Amino acid sequence: MAALDLRQRQRYARHLSLAEIGEAGQERLLRSRVLIVGVGALGSPAALYLAAAGVGTIGLADHDRVRLSNLQRQVIHSIDGLNQPKVQVAAQALRRLNPELTVEAIEATVDERNALDLLARFDVVVDGTDSFRARYLLSDAAYLLGKPLVHGSIFRVEGQVTVFKPGHGCYRCLYPEPPPPGAIETSEDVGIFAALPGIIGTIEAAETIKLVTGAGDALVNRVLLHDSLAMTFREIRYERNRACPICGDRPTVHALIDYGAFVGVAP
Ligand SMILES: [Zn+2]
Repeated sequence: MAALDLRQRQRYARHLSLAEIGEAGQERLLRSRVLIVGVGALGSPAALYLAAAGVGTIGLADHDRVRLSNLQRQVIHSIDGLNQPKVQVAAQALRRLNPELTVEAIEATVDERNALDLLARFDVVVDGTDSFRARYLLSDAAYLLGKPLVHGSIFRVEGQVTVFKPGHGCYRCLYPEPPPPGAIETSEDVGIFAALPGIIGTIEAAETIKLVTGAGDALVNRVLLHDSLAMTFREIRYERNRACPICGDRPTVHALIDYGAFVGVAP
């Protein structure tokens, strides 16, 4: 294994000084491959911190373009990137921050056709999406591939974050049924408190760094719930649901399904 060079020793000096990360942890980060699905509110801070931390290969997947209304909270984007593909704008920002990394800009919707091939190429998956359809898809795909999934979601002034590690529960264990179709709202329909995704997305980055390096206690079997207005954090524990259709004792789901139909939205 190649040792860190002088510039890397300077760039990552504050990690090298941390006993819990150290040189071995930093080398793991540099060798790691992390996929961030959704380069919006949650993906922005997650991508910035993971690039700063030295994650060697960062995949960015998103089909959307930068809109003016994104800039209230999607801090990786700027006015210069208006109407350009989010993954291209974000990839440029990450390369400016840390040119030694490999950034893969994947301009696509992650769906049941491409999810397994895409996720298979990475070590850790970070959910930065904003739909139930994508959350069930990523959870199932990560479980089928045996990959850890860092889950985060936000709604108005509240957010939550947890880590789904295969064998320790999945999104379906937490939410066996999707909400009724009429109840599904996205950030387009409701407000989002500007700094909230910064808090949740940054926690997603922290959990990813811990998964890669083995430092600390991962947020496994625990959901951290946050309310930005009350400024409270609380934790709920959960276990793998033995009746879960995918990760339970007698699974009935062995492949990806039609998630649009599952959550009741048009394809
Ligand atoms: Zn499950």
